[in-house]
Amino acid sequence: MKFGGTSVGSAETIGRITDLVVLEKDKKVVVVSAMSEVTDMLVSIAKKVSDLPTALVELECERFYLEFFSKHKSAAKGVIKDKRVLKRVLKKIDELSNELRITLLGVGYLGDLSLKSLDYVLSFGERVSVLIVAGALESKGMKTKALTGYEAGIVTDSNFGCARPIYARMSDTVGSALMPLLDKGILPVVAGFVAADENARITTMGRGGSDYTASLLGRFLEVDEVQIWTDVDGILSADPKVVDSVQLISKISYVEAMDLAHFGAKVIHSKMIEPAMDADIPVRIKNSFNPEGGGTLIVREQEKIERVIKAVAIETDVDILNLKGVGMAETPNIAGKLFNLLGVNNINIAMISGSSESNLSFVISNDDLTCAVELINENFVGNGIRKLEVLDDVCIITIVGVGMAGTKGIAARIFQTVSDNNVNIIMIAQGSSEVNISFIVKAEDGNRVVQSIHNRFIDNEI
Ligand code: ADP
Ligand code: ASP
Ligand code: MG
Repeated sequence: MKFGGTSVGSAETIGRITDLVVLEKDKKVVVVSAMSEVTDMLVSIAKKVSDLPTALVELECERFYLEFFSKHKSAAKGVIKDKRVLKRVLKKIDELSNELRITLLGVGYLGDLSLKSLDYVLSFGERVSVLIVAGALESKGMKTKALTGYEAGIVTDSNFGCARPIYARMSDTVGSALMPLLDKGILPVVAGFVAADENARITTMGRGGSDYTASLLGRFLEVDEVQIWTDVDGILSADPKVVDSVQLISKISYVEAMDLAHFGAKVIHSKMIEPAMDADIPVRIKNSFNPEGGGTLIVREQEKIERVIKAVAIETDVDILNLKGVGMAETPNIAGKLFNLLGVNNINIAMISGSSESNLSFVISNDDLTCAVELINENFVGNGIRKLEVLDDVCIITIVGVGMAGTKGIAARIFQTVSDNNVNIIMIAQGSSEVNISFIVKAEDGNRVVQSIHNRFIDNEI
C-alpha cells in the first residue's frame, strides 16, 4: 500500500490512511512519500543556500530547520495519540531535522550543490514522513518498523537524481530485509523514492518515485497486488486539472498505463509499471479521500472497450531539438552516434522524427536541455550537422487506447480536431503497437487541444 504526498499531507489525512492500513487484514508493506510540498521545499532551499553569500547561510539554514521541524512536529502531534510513542517520534524528527540543517550548512558554505548532495537533502522528506506514519500506526495498536528504501533492500546504481535499481542485488536484499519483519507480524513502513547505491550513498529514483519503490518491493516480495493510494479516483480519461468532464477508467492494460504515465499522466510514475508487469502483479490505483470508489486496476490483458480512445495526456516539460545539415546524409550512423552519446549521459529521448536524411528532430525533457545542447554543439555541430535549433515552448499530447490498433481513420479524425482549433501540429509519432498516438503543439495551445479531443472522442464517444 503506497500513499502519496497529499495522502500524508496533514495529521488528518495521515489519520485517515492509517485507518485504511489497519482495516486491511492481509499481510502488507506500507510505502509513503514525503508530506505534500516537502520535496519541492527541499529542492528550493538546497538551491537557495548554495547561492547565498556565506554570511547569510547559517541564519537561512536555522530558519529552514525551524520550518521543517515544526511542520512535521505538528503533524506528529495531531495524529500520534500515544504520548510515549509521540515523544520517541518527536525526538527522532528533531534529530533528522538537525542533520538536515547541518547538510544544508555544508551545501551553503561550499556553495556547491551536486546531484549527490541534492539527493541527500531530498531524502529527509521521506525519512521523516515514515516516522510519523509508523508512529501513528503504532499508536493504533500495530507493531511497525520505519525503514528507508535502502533498509528495505532497494539498492541502486550511482546515477544520483534518477537512480536505477540493481535487480541482481535486490532479489536477495528485499526479501531478507522485509520477510523476517512480516513473519514476526511487524508492519514495515518504507520511505518511498529514496534508496542508496552499493556504497550506501543515498540516491533518489526520480520525482514521483515512491510509486516505483512500491512496485519494486511488490515484485521482489511476489505480492498479490500493488496498491497506489492517491488523491484522485484512479486513472482518469484526462488530468482533472485540465479537463472537467473526466471519466474513471476501471481497467487498463500495463502498456496503456505505461504510455500515459510516460507522456505526462503523473498519477503513476512511468517506471513503476515495468516491475509489476515483469511479475504479472496487478496494480490498483485508489483514492485515499474516497476509499469506497472502485479505483483502476492495471493488468496485462488489453481489453477493448466500446470507446476507441481511453485517455488523453499532456506533457509540458519538454523541448524539441531540430538538427539540420546535408552533411548528415553523408556521415554514416550519425543518428546512432548522437543517441548513444545522449544515452550515456542519461538523457532520455521522448519522441523521434526524421523527416529526411538532412533533418532529424527529437524531444527531450526540459531538465536535460542545457546538457544536450552542450553535447551536440561540442561533438556534432560543424561535423555533419550544420545547425541546431531548439523549440522550447511546446508540449506533447498523447492519445491512448488499445482500440486504436487496426481502427481506420482514427489519426485523421484526431488531427482534424486539432486543425478545427486552428492549431498547427509540429511533430507526430505513433508507436508500432498502435496503442498511442503522440503529437506536439505549441504549449499555449495544449490545454485547449486536450479539452477538445476529450470532448469529441470521450465525452461524445464518436
Ligand atoms: P501522489 O502525491 O499521490 O503521488 P500525484 O500528484 O503524483 O499524487 O499524482 C496524482 C495527480 O495526477 C492527480 O491529482 C492528477 O492531477 C494528476 N493526473 C494527471 N493525469 C491524470 C490522469 N489521467 N488520471 C488521474 N490523475 C491524473
Ligand atoms: N516525494 C517525492 C516527490 O515529490 C517522491 C514522490 O512523491 O513519489 O517527487
Ligand atoms: Mg506521485
